[in-house]
Amino acid sequence: MSSLKGYAGRILYVDLTRGKYWTEELPESVVKAYVGGNGLAAHLLWNLISEEVDPLSPENPLIVATGPATGALSPSSGRFAVVTKSPLTGAWGESHAGGFLGPQIKYAGYDFLVITGRSPKPVTLVVDDGSVVLRDSHDLWGLSTADTTDELRGVVGSDYHVMCIGPAGEKLVKFASVMVDYYRAFGRTGVGAVMGSKRLKAVAVRGGKDVVVHDPDRYIEVLEDFLWRNTEGPWAFPAQASLGRFGTPCLVTAMNAIGRLPTKNHWTGYWERAEEISGEELLKYRVSRGSCFSCMIMCKHITRVDDGVYAGAMSGGPEYESVAALGSNLLIHDIKAVIYMNTLCNLYGLDTISTGKAISFLFECYEKGLVEKKNVDGLEPVWGNAETAVELIKAIAERRGIGDLLAEGVRKASEVLGHRTRHYALHVKGLEVSAQDPRAHKSVGCTWAISVRGADHLRSLTTVDELGYRDIATERFGPVMTDAICDRLTEKYKGVVVKDQEDLFALVDSIIMCKYGTMWPPMYYFDFIAKLLPPLTGIKEFSDVKYLRLTAERIANLKRCFNLREGVGRESETLPQRFTEEPMPTGPSKGHTCNLEPMLREYYSQRGWDYESGLPYEETLKRLELNQAADALKRRYRLPRWERGSG
Ligand code: SF4
Repeated sequence: MSSLKGYAGRILYVDLTRGKYWTEELPESVVKAYVGGNGLAAHLLWNLISEEVDPLSPENPLIVATGPATGALSPSSGRFAVVTKSPLTGAWGESHAGGFLGPQIKYAGYDFLVITGRSPKPVTLVVDDGSVVLRDSHDLWGLSTADTTDELRGVVGSDYHVMCIGPAGEKLVKFASVMVDYYRAFGRTGVGAVMGSKRLKAVAVRGGKDVVVHDPDRYIEVLEDFLWRNTEGPWAFPAQASLGRFGTPCLVTAMNAIGRLPTKNHWTGYWERAEEISGEELLKYRVSRGSCFSCMIMCKHITRVDDGVYAGAMSGGPEYESVAALGSNLLIHDIKAVIYMNTLCNLYGLDTISTGKAISFLFECYEKGLVEKKNVDGLEPVWGNAETAVELIKAIAERRGIGDLLAEGVRKASEVLGHRTRHYALHVKGLEVSAQDPRAHKSVGCTWAISVRGADHLRSLTTVDELGYRDIATERFGPVMTDAICDRLTEKYKGVVVKDQEDLFALVDSIIMCKYGTMWPPMYYFDFIAKLLPPLTGIKEFSDVKYLRLTAERIANLKRCFNLREGVGRESETLPQRFTEEPMPTGPSKGHTCNLEPMLREYYSQRGWDYESGLPYEETLKRLELNQAADALKRRYRLPRWERGSG
């Protein structure tokens, strides 16, 4: 039995090729170095695969990760992660989801599930405390994610929590998602395709063990502080009045107001019809308000359409990102159509963000005459055409006609359709861009460019600059930088802020806590984590903010080293020209472009990386005790040495 507190202390390994499983203890030294969640998963992934493994091959592991907070009753701790090599980008793949399944993994006695190999036939991994079974699931193959969940729970028991793929994952759509208990999604980077390549239809988990806490009395005191911050503290009311009441779609009108709402394939950031797809509008279709495990913000809503052509559509959210990708981004203002499209994506198991951006890519290419009518299967891919968008979602998931090409992602689709379409393929590292705009929020440009998984809104997105939180900017970065940091329309000091936020999130994603509380509202920072972890885990080093910051840096650097080992480095840290060369044409951020390079220079300098090559200085990796990573990179690159005057 593991002596670790706050952790289950074990990793469950499953080899689907041989139909075997075994467990290994979680080493304390690795826990101290990487905390858990995505940090420890980075350590596992780094060691489990060699470079240039095909993401859809049996060798690519699918790592389901929890953290010390998971299941330990701390607020916002119902989330968990999947880490793998992405089939969409060929780089670091990671996605997080909420709900209740993550805690069940801990209660079943595991911190991580590491799944490798490829089953000869479709299977479900069923985990129940000490029991691990691979259940034949050929009867589930082809079913939607909702039907799969229904059928499976009918067989194994309704108290199991289920993550599964739909037809899109089975057909290896490069941005297939994994759905959790019907409504939560591991959306990004194609983790559903990795599951499909393993013929793993689902994972069902039920657990009954306890998470043992090191110092329960002190831990309860910290949880009381947590509770106060969420119910009475200065951020409690804003969080409840916005996120709690409307869910993340509260952002639709807020983003439009600053000219940052993706509109018409990100042509602009302002849409005069935004109100029609707003959080307020969605409220009319809400049938329930829910939450992840142990959360007081409760931003999870379920919406249903009861009449009209889309009657019967019912989905979680849709979240802000989905509303923007499938609504304003396509100029579709019928909120019922957006709910329906979101429902379809969830049932097929498709990432709504990549799906929306693949469709808007086609719409714009068609508008510009770069795709001919004879090549779009009789569809009318024009702005605002919800009927065609619906058909394209089906075609992508089923890999039919033009949908088969879009299922590869916009980077690949533009390579096939010709270089003139590249301008409209909005991605970084192959990941379709999320619902921000670097012209209206300059630090987003740096965030997208440096994120290891591509154009990402959840690894270093900052709100201190976007919302102008002066007190927080001063507290964290000092008075000299405050003015510039709080100006979302200047690039100055944004490299500093992005690095800081990336480190914070590296830790948050390792513990694992929800971003709502650290990104917005900015309730928790390193000092709070230093209070939370010691009574939970008993690891005294975690009470030292400097130690935590160093750990966060180690995690961020190891993930970058993973990408560098795959050959994804400096040259991939660019932005689509739309954001760097086309001034914002309308709205409150009119006239702005994003100047990436000064932010990158600042960011690399903060990180201890060489500006020209984007490689970490050898000294940086040594300082972070990433010697093995340094040796691996030296086989591919000439690692720069830091000299006086280096960035
Ligand atoms: S804020 Fe929302 S996403 Fe985060 S834990 Fe709570 S319900 Fe889940």
